[in-house]
Amino acid sequence: MDHTNTTQVVIVGGGITGLAAALFLAQQGVDFILLEKHKGTSIYPRARTIDIRTMELFRGLGLSEALREGGKALAPAWGVLRGDNLMNTLQSPTVITDKMTPAQLVKAQNEMKVLTSKSPESLCRCTQDISEAIMREQLSKQDLRFHHQLLSFEQDHNGVKILVEDRTAGKAYTVLADYMIAADGANSMVRTQLNIPTSGNTPGTDLLNIYFEADLAAIVAGREFSQYLIDNADLTGFLLTINNTDRWAFHLRYYPEKGETAEDYPKEKLIPMLQRILGMPDLKISILAILPWQLTVRIADHMHVNRVFIAGDAAHTMTPYAGKGANTGIQDVQNLAWKLAAVLKHMAGEALLDTYNTERQPIGAYYATLSGELAGENGLINDALMITKGKDLFGLPNYGYLSPAVIRASDIPFTYFIGEPGTRVPHLWLNESHSLSSLDWIKGQFTLIANNTDSWQAECDHIKLRLGVPVQLIILDNKDILEKWKDVTATRDNEALLIRPDDFVGAKVSPGRLSDLMRSILCM
Ligand SMILES: Cc1cc2nc3c(=O)[nH]c(=O)nc-3n(C[C@H](O)[C@H](O)[C@H](O)COP(=O)(O)OP(=O)(O)OC[C@H]3O[C@@H](n4cnc5c(N)ncnc54)[C@H](O)[C@@H]3O)c2cc1C
Repeated sequence: MDHTNTTQVVIVGGGITGLAAALFLAQQGVDFILLEKHKGTSIYPRARTIDIRTMELFRGLGLSEALREGGKALAPAWGVLRGDNLMNTLQSPTVITDKMTPAQLVKAQNEMKVLTSKSPESLCRCTQDISEAIMREQLSKQDLRFHHQLLSFEQDHNGVKILVEDRTAGKAYTVLADYMIAADGANSMVRTQLNIPTSGNTPGTDLLNIYFEADLAAIVAGREFSQYLIDNADLTGFLLTINNTDRWAFHLRYYPEKGETAEDYPKEKLIPMLQRILGMPDLKISILAILPWQLTVRIADHMHVNRVFIAGDAAHTMTPYAGKGANTGIQDVQNLAWKLAAVLKHMAGEALLDTYNTERQPIGAYYATLSGELAGENGLINDALMITKGKDLFGLPNYGYLSPAVIRASDIPFTYFIGEPGTRVPHLWLNESHSLSSLDWIKGQFTLIANNTDSWQAECDHIKLRLGVPVQLIILDNKDILEKWKDVTATRDNEALLIRPDDFVGAKVSPGRLSDLMRSILCM
């Protein structure tokens, strides 16, 4: 063993959740090392939909435009089609209306209008190979250790001791960290070693993700679709569009329970099968990669044990049909990063870290369960149910947090987007061009949004002095914005909203109360 490294946080896994953890810890000024056992980020496109809330988070990191640009080619693809032969289906005169009835389309458009008024962001299509590369690029100055694998770990009340293998050098070394975030995926070794129980209604469907290149641009242009479902006597599976031109993924159902293995599907067998499905027997097809995977719902009972936290697929493995796996993982670590920072900077009690589990476990469990319900009996997406659940899936943050890190006057059910403690801060455009939103104020800091000047600056200064916690003060001195804000939030002239660094409202504050409420939120 060569050398020992020390850091505040070790992140295990350089998938989308681990990379997001790195971005949020960097934003909070926390020192970390990220370990990823592979040489680079994944080549598999997997997640294609970045939901509204996740786009808000990327906006705060200055990455939303890069992701939209990265996903530009995929953007026009929406809707689910069915058939046995793609060419025939796309040439049908009803191909557009087959995706949704006109009534469903109008309903969806109306719902979309309401949704877009609540957020400065909208859904973004961008495949995971591209989004991970963009995130990694943003982290180029950080300590990301690709081709380094976590071998084992132990923790005590002082920290976590992690044994790592540098796979390039073929050497092991030790890292000492205050905390560890395990974003090591569905088969999380860390979750297993922590003995965290799991539950879930696993549909138990095995699929081969066949990622291939074939030029379909001419037949798809103007008739773009998101998924093409095939379920006949010969085969069951779905075709996903990756860039609407030459990249596609076919997910083929196969049956290990009948003795089948991935090796039963060599390229020589798959290429004629794909040509048949696409309806073009002479089409040139190159298979880029084949990845066996399983439709799984697995929910961890809890998301941390002392100094080790689990996030993303390690904490809640979902079917892809709700489009929430990556989104939920990213939102997990955004919730965790500011809490770790506050504890590491001695600004909060350690009990604040328990609220990560209290706040995030139910959200992961909800989406994982929903994703299982969206899997039909044949293992394909139940698109009729998806349409009825549609507005839950766009990802406007219509969930709230109940925990000691939120001060609520009562336990009545949440109303969203009106500034209730436990919900995401309301969005209001701050300029005519609609480029600046009230969410843009926050950027990972405690923020007090006050309706008048009163004594707020003195209260913020007091907190900085006594607790060491910087609080950004926003005084609403623009009459127009103040009126709109008071209207949306039903706050009185002398009230303010204290927003946590994750954009969620921590408390509604009256003069003289800020210090006490902040202490409560920080579990001091
Ligand atoms: C077909 C398909 C479509 C999908 N569509 C969507 C979608 O539209 N929207 C959405 O939100 N989600 C979607 N998902 C789900 C999404 O891909 C996953 O939820 C997401 O990849 C989980 O990210 P993660 O970082 O938590 O885990 P992973 O992506 O599994 O990453 C874990 C990482 O940890 C590394 N690792 C593991 N063990 C170690 C170790 N000991 N040491 C070092 N490194 C280690 C692994 O190499 C890996 O890189 C889809 C999934 C599939 C299969």
